[in-house]
Amino acid sequence: MKYISTRGQAPELNFEEVLLAGLASDGGLYIPKTLPSFSPEQIAAWAGLSYHELAYEVIVPFVGDCIPENDLREMLQETYSVFSHSAVAPLVQLGHNEWVLELFQGPTLAFKDFALQLLGRLLDYVLKKQNRRVVILGATSGDTGSAAIEGCRHCDNVEVFILHPHKRVSEFQRRQMTTVLEDNVHNIAIEGNFDDCQNIVKESFLDQSFLPDGLQLVAVNSINWARIMAQIVYYFYSALALGSPQKSVAFSVPTGNFGDIFAGYLAQKMGLPIHQLVIGTNKNDVLHRVITDAVYEKSELHHTLSPSMDISISSNFERLMFDLCNRDGEKVRDLMEVLNSSSIRFDKKQALAVRALFTSASIDDDATCDLIADVFSTTEYLLDPHSAIGVGAGRICNTHKDLPMVALATAHPAKFPDAIAKAGIGIIPEIPHHLEDLLEREERYTVLSNDRAVVNQFMANNLSA
Ligand SMILES: *Cc1c(COP(=O)(O)O)cnc(C)c1O
Repeated sequence: MKYISTRGQAPELNFEEVLLAGLASDGGLYIPKTLPSFSPEQIAAWAGLSYHELAYEVIVPFVGDCIPENDLREMLQETYSVFSHSAVAPLVQLGHNEWVLELFQGPTLAFKDFALQLLGRLLDYVLKKQNRRVVILGATSGDTGSAAIEGCRHCDNVEVFILHPHKRVSEFQRRQMTTVLEDNVHNIAIEGNFDDCQNIVKESFLDQSFLPDGLQLVAVNSINWARIMAQIVYYFYSALALGSPQKSVAFSVPTGNFGDIFAGYLAQKMGLPIHQLVIGTNKNDVLHRVITDAVYEKSELHHTLSPSMDISISSNFERLMFDLCNRDGEKVRDLMEVLNSSSIRFDKKQALAVRALFTSASIDDDATCDLIADVFSTTEYLLDPHSAIGVGAGRICNTHKDLPMVALATAHPAKFPDAIAKAGIGIIPEIPHHLEDLLEREERYTVLSNDRAVVNQFMANNLSA
């Protein structure tokens, strides 16, 4: 399997290379040159496979011969054995044809564990083979940082530096990162906001001269192809459980950077019968406006009760644009150039194509609280604010009420107690057993000024041998 850039000017890479690549050298994102596809008979034969067995079938075409079959199988088994539910991604029924797919059973209680638990193991495997080390650098407003740290804490050949905005992430989320005390894990609190953290990361990737010879930075945000790849699996897993490929299924996805739902789009292109993909956004509705107005335009950032979806632009949308432009990298390049200074207006054909693929709804904080309260009063099921947006968008957009609508539950409610309190149902979400003593554990992190040079110097000084 070869990977190409959405902007058409970067070298083709194989899986091993794409795993270690961040942005392509032309500024684009890597995607598979050709997508594997599966017949209904092939998909039907997977019914009954366990999560890791199915993951092998879905992922193996993307990995190609970079990892021997048995090693890949073993790695997948190990990856998903750390999830606390034996189904890994269990389905819960809320109502007639209304389902929730629980993607928060991993160690950090958000769906990002599905990709980052695997990414850590893939990196470790490939780096051991090549006998080299890399440095992971990422910025987080909450969920990505803890999932990346948890995924890489046991990797001998990976050093992890995660930047979070000082005093602007919840205590629970901070402690999920800062109580990991392994020598290769470094938490930095930046005196600034999330955008400041992200800018430091971006600039550091552009000039890596502060690192000793032979070391390079690796990205853990969803520009990394392996993250998207791992997320394709649970679409197949849940659809099979609900009767696919004989039966078609719809998904509603709480969306920020468009990584999770893009994996659903790929599952559909690979042959899974998905009749509807619903984009749920909070007040940061850049993607809802793409669907309704065919205009893609950066907007002002709003802070909401669903902070993991607070974005002003969705980086992975470029991967979809590549298909909308008939895989013409030059066209994508021109459009992204336009986006730097103004907005992209899609032509009629492209607008129709997007609407044929996606529907969308934007759900504000009040409506999110109402949904949490409503679902709790009718089913006693407690949704986190992100998952509530998934359920709400699914209800608004559902076009086939006779077929299953699956809302992706992307986080555990215990991660967002303030939002649950605002919903006014008088319930405090229960913290899963393995994190019960989180507030008593020892923490370690360093506060640094919002200055790239200071951060880079700190990194150079703190690399373990
Ligand atoms: C990251 C995240 C999202 C958004 O996912 P994207 O792939 O960025 O669209 C939604 N919910 C939760 C809880 C998250 O952590």
